[in-house]
Amino acid sequence: MATGYDFTLTHTEFPFVRVQQDWYTCWYCQVLYYAGHPDRPGRPGEDGACPARPGRGHTHGVARTFRLMTGLGDGPHMQSNWRHCWNCQALFFAGSGHRGSCPSGGSHRGRLDDPDTLDFCLAYPMNPRITVTRVEPVISVLGDSFTPDGQVRVSWKIVGENATLENRSDTVRCFREGDFRYTFHAQGRWDFLTVRAWDVTSDTPTLVRSVLSPARLDLESAPTRSVADGAHR
Ligand SMILES: [Zn+2]
Ligand SMILES: [Zn+2]
Repeated sequence: MATGYDFTLTHTEFPFVRVQQDWYTCWYCQVLYYAGHPDRPGRPGEDGACPARPGRGHTHGVARTFRLMTGLGDGPHMQSNWRHCWNCQALFFAGSGHRGSCPSGGSHRGRLDDPDTLDFCLAYPMNPRITVTRVEPVISVLGDSFTPDGQVRVSWKIVGENATLENRSDTVRCFREGDFRYTFHAQGRWDFLTVRAWDVTSDTPTLVRSVLSPARLDLESAPTRSVADGAHR
């Protein structure tokens, strides 16, 4: 039998993914809220509690209805643990340890341990990038727009005399802002090096960056210099 991946096909279509509609942006406070419950008592067309109008609920005019996905869990470009607050009807992030303040008073409410409570997932684009600078003999790699607190795999290759002199990779942890700094040394005679980083959490690679060695830069700028010198004579 040929070796390879063994895919299992299921009869049902994406059995774990559910979509909930009836989410709207509030006209007054601009929050995303759920309007699928019965209206707020006594206030037709109002739901939950709107921080822009104390004592009143969120409302929307002729607006588009958003659909939220549930049950996908965390994954590449996907964050779960977004919940629907029972009191103010807004969507809030419940994965950070504190619930934030609710315009209804106290903090947002939504049972996290209840399997019937929908666990919403939001997709986010990833655009991790790096810049590489050389201050002899240190090479600095600065990363930006990676997964906050996530892991990054940095790979680099030093090439000289048509051969790979060094080929290594390392794992670093990102800061809270999704940035990181990584340094390594490039010593001896080399022509150029290449660096690439990989956002492990979202499985997203960056573009490859290359840096020429100072010796190589001198060599390449030499003809230009001689022409310039000749013009002055
Ligand atoms: Zn509102
Ligand atoms: Zn709330």
